[in-house]
Amino acid sequence: MDTQTVFVTIRGIISTIINYKDVKNNKGLYDEILKLRGLANELYKENQRLLKENKDLKEKLEISNQLTVNETYQCYEIKEGNRNGFYCANCYDNNKKSIRLKYTIEYNGAKLYKCTNCNTNYFDAESE
Ligand SMILES: [Zn+2]
Repeated sequence: MDTQTVFVTIRGIISTIINYKDVKNNKGLYDEILKLRGLANELYKENQRLLKENKDLKEKLEISNQLTVNETYQCYEIKEGNRNGFYCANCYDNNKKSIRLKYTIEYNGAKLYKCTNCNTNYFDAESE
């Protein structure tokens, strides 16, 4: 059962319990069940936050496993898949940020790639 289903089920059970006459007539019990509902909400929010964080970490790990050094441009590169392309070595080495480089110009056969995050330029040193 996924978290969403568990949460909806718990909310349903709490609603059922709270509607019992015995519960409605018992202020102490009623208040405790309201607290329980609030705690269930907090648990759900925390779970959603952790799921997102886990997804982001998996993506980062997947990227770090795919990065290789591109000797020509001295940047990182992913050669296959939908993330293929050049990545900024400066951003990745300093902050573990995977920033895809933007192709900028071609001048006398020299291609230039730029990081839109830290503005580092990457060019083919051998073409000069
Ligand atoms: Zn950068």
